Amino acid sequence: SDYALKYPLSPAHMDWASHYPGFVNPDASQTTLAGTRKLLKDVEVADIGCGFGGLLIGLAPVLPDTLMVGMEIRAQVTEFLIARIAALRAQQVQLRSGGQVSASSTKATNPSEAKETQAQEIDIPEDAPALPGAAEENTAIVSGGYQNITAIRANTMKFLPRFFGHHQLSKIFICFPDPHFKARKHKARIVSSSLNAEYAFVLRPGGLLYTITDVEEYHRWILEHFGVPIPEVETTAPAEPSEQSEKKDEEQDGADSDSDDESGQARVKELFERVSDEELAKDECARVMREETEEGRKVARNNGPKFVAVFRRLPDPEWP
Ligand code: SAM
Repeated sequence: SDYALKYPLSPAHMDWASHYPGFVNPDASQTTLAGTRKLLKDVEVADIGCGFGGLLIGLAPVLPDTLMVGMEIRAQVTEFLIARIAALRAQQVQLRSGGQVSASSTKATNPSEAKETQAQEIDIPEDAPALPGAAEENTAIVSGGYQNITAIRANTMKFLPRFFGHHQLSKIFICFPDPHFKARKHKARIVSSSLNAEYAFVLRPGGLLYTITDVEEYHRWILEHFGVPIPEVETTAPAEPSEQSEKKDEEQDGADSDSDDESGQARVKELFERVSDEELAKDECARVMREETEEGRKVARNNGPKFVAVFRRLPDPEWP
């Protein structure tokens, strides 16, 4: 449960060094408020509800000098992703040294326990993708060697500003968020006026917040909560009803239960503008988001729709 989750006291207390050993500041006197080593640069990209990490793994070579973190609430999934990244890193080290890559030589270790040399046994979730070392995994040398990605277990609905400072992030991704169809469950959605205010706090002006979902009603919810006029129909794929949207029709009982106060909602909406399709067509990160998350692959296999909306964080207005 959430009770077991650990959150830093503030961004200045966050121990990132164990997550990004390749980016630790060589000056050992540079320490965080928790006494751990500082990094050479700040984490800049967050994948909210990252699941098995397909997005991060796809983005790692696209932004090889940018530090990215996946945040995931399920313990087993987070553990798996940490092991997957460790295995990818190990595989890259081997490829660079001209060695043969084998499953046993890339056995996963947990980067948050980087000092441990022993490989760590983890429970593999049922629907998890293959770990590197299996024949089908990529064996090309990848720019950055996956040193720039990591995962942490967290409920992102709580304390996000304790991980990231004001304007720290340049990109936030929310890919295939759990739809929570019933109106009384809408409060569990990770897009809401109050959470959007937190995203606006940690995202820098000019930064981008990317969303993708296969649930049209959730897409419209997202547009509404970022202050975008809602179009009649907007789709990028066949209009066959997905299993989820059928379930939605059965389950949804109408009312919007987002009960945030209205002036706050209006203000949050002033902080974002929607990015145009022309701009997105040139954005490699948007392509990775459409094609490389595990949930996105599943939707594609089922010939389901994908609804994309990306928002630019505007400069802070002059509020009284
Ligand atoms: N983004 C991934 C993808 O596209 O493949 C996973 C999508 S999956 C449908 C939604 C993920 O969000 C799940 O892994 C779930 O555990 C995670 N999640 C849901 N609520 C969360 C929260 N409050 N904090 C962190 N992760 C959350």
